[in-house]
Amino acid sequence: MGVGGGPAKSDLVDSFGRIIRDLRISVTDRCNFRCTYCMPEQGMDWLPRSAVMSFEEIERLAQIFVERYGVNGIRLTGGEPTVRAHLPVLVEKLSGLVGPDGPVNVAMTTNGATLRTLAPVLRAAGLSRVNISLDTLDSKKFHELTRRDQLEQVIDGIDAARQAGFDPVKINAVIQRGVNDDEITDLAAFGREREVEVRFIEFMPLDATGHWMSEAVVGQAEILDIISSVYPVEQIPARGAAPADRFRYLDGAGMIGIIPTVTKPFCGDCDRVRLTAEGDFRTCLFATEESDLLAALRSGETDDQIATRIEAAVALKWAGHRINQVNFIRPDKSMSQIGG
Ligand code: SAM
Ligand code: SF4
Repeated sequence: MGVGGGPAKSDLVDSFGRIIRDLRISVTDRCNFRCTYCMPEQGMDWLPRSAVMSFEEIERLAQIFVERYGVNGIRLTGGEPTVRAHLPVLVEKLSGLVGPDGPVNVAMTTNGATLRTLAPVLRAAGLSRVNISLDTLDSKKFHELTRRDQLEQVIDGIDAARQAGFDPVKINAVIQRGVNDDEITDLAAFGREREVEVRFIEFMPLDATGHWMSEAVVGQAEILDIISSVYPVEQIPARGAAPADRFRYLDGAGMIGIIPTVTKPFCGDCDRVRLTAEGDFRTCLFATEESDLLAALRSGETDDQIATRIEAAVALKWAGHRINQVNFIRPDKSMSQIGG
């Protein structure tokens, strides 16, 4: 028995000694937005329903990670997780899982557009944290960026998440040069006023259209310079395995995070693995290989057999992505197909 009363634990460790603690699960490849840095306006080939993991299948795979390997955090993502019907039912199932250190922490990344109705229900179902994507405060630019006219709904969704008791609520803002880099300070001010932590994300080569280029990336150093010239910050040490470097405002008005995937990779501390909506297991966002756990499960394999596949895949987890190197190969899936 583990400390929290769960089953005995064996850590899932890769060949570089990194212990896996965080599982990202994509619950759908579909989305109600079409963000330019993620999806094309048209032409995405959606998975057929039968190819997508059912809630029972997700629960069974998640249970292996939590109970057997001590994974203590699950983040639901997509596509847009809230377009999956009956999502609170899945949240309830997953938040009931108990690992050796106690109940698993279930979080979600969402575009926020439907949170006014869903936030209280998800909270009641056991969701513990929510990250909401918001890249601009300008409604015209929002429409251009997401190809949807829903800035008001997203801001209302952020308020709804706070009112439902989510704390902290974090905002994800992908910064692209010439698109929204002129709004970095405005987004920071928004976070300060609304008491939410804005996390600035470097643009990654995972857009479906393949338009990413390094010139479009606004790096951590530049983002930090811009913000601290208006609102001075100091770094909070000990980032651990989290993807964001965190900084606190010197005047006490909260915090920001910066996710420097491109300019300052944090692969050495990575504790994350992923399941796509179709049940493919990926040990890196940028992986070019996957292990089809759903096929294994549907073919009748036992938990032990599936666990062997998980361990074999984790043993091959890369030291790190190679975005800045000549031998970088873009994965053939884009962000919404992987589950960011
Ligand atoms: N639909 C949800 C959302 O937008 O929050 C969850 C899925 S989305 C793929 C997860 C996160 O990936 C979002 O914060 C989104 O902004 C981010 N993202 C998508 N494409 C990206 C890219 N090319 N570079 C960096 N971040 C990206
Ligand atoms: Fe949809 Fe999220 Fe991708 Fe935007 S970033 S298109 S909201 S999946």
